[in-house]
Amino acid sequence: MDAPLGTWFGSSMLTAPAVRVLSVNGIRQLVQRTVFTALDLLFPPHCVGCERVGQLLCPHCLVSVKQAPERVIDGLDGICVRAEYDGVIRAAIHALKYERQPRLYQPLGMLLVQAVDHTDWLLDVVTAVPLHSNRLHERGYNQAALLGCFVAHAYDRPFFPAAVKRMRETPSQIHLNAQERRANVAGAFAADARLVAGKTVLIVDDVLTTGATLVACAEALRRAGAVRVMGAVMAGAQLSP
Ligand SMILES: [Zn+2]
Repeated sequence: MDAPLGTWFGSSMLTAPAVRVLSVNGIRQLVQRTVFTALDLLFPPHCVGCERVGQLLCPHCLVSVKQAPERVIDGLDGICVRAEYDGVIRAAIHALKYERQPRLYQPLGMLLVQAVDHTDWLLDVVTAVPLHSNRLHERGYNQAALLGCFVAHAYDRPFFPAAVKRMRETPSQIHLNAQERRANVAGAFAADARLVAGKTVLIVDDVLTTGATLVACAEALRRAGAVRVMGAVMAGAQLSP
C-alpha cells in the first residue's frame, strides 16, 4: 500500500488482466460500456464547452482549462486543485451536477488525476465528500464519488464511498462567509474507523471554496483514526463578495 503513486497510463485500468472482465464488477462495466456505446451512436456526445459533436469535453476546450493556483488549507495534510472554477470547467461541473450528465466524470476525472500525479502522496484509500441522502436520491448519484472512484481506479487504491457519512443535511453555503461555512458543517460528518484507521486517506470533491467542508470531513476521518488526510478537488472557486 505504500508504493508511490503511478501515473494514469501506468494504472491497472489499462493493464487489468482479461479475467477481471468476468467479475461481477467487470460484467457491470462491460454492460455499461455497451449501453454507452449504443447511446453514443444514437445520441453522439456534444462538448459542454463549444457543442462540437464527438466528445463531452473536446481537445479545443481542454486547452483552455486554467490551472488553479496552489492552495494551503489548515486542517488538511495536502490539497491539490486541478482548475479554476471558470469557463468550460464551470460548465462541465454544472452539467455533471444539475443536467444529468454523469458521464462527464470521465474527462473531469482524467484532469483530476493529472493534478494528483504532481503530488508525492502515498495514499492508502480514497473516499469522497458525501451528499446527504435526500440530495443523493434527487440527483441519483454523488458527483464527488464518481470523481473519487475514477481517481481510486487510476491509482489502484480501494475506493470507500461510505468512509465518511453526512450525519445531517447542511443548508446551502452559497451565501455564507468563511466563518459561517465552518459553523455550518461543524460536526456534520462521521467516519468509519474500520475503513480508515491507520490509513492515509484521499478525499475527493468537485468544487473547493473555503475548504470548510473538506476540513470538517478531515476532522471526522482523524477522529476515526486516519493518520493523514489529503484533498483533491476538481475546481477552485472564489468566495462571493
Ligand atoms: Zn469544446
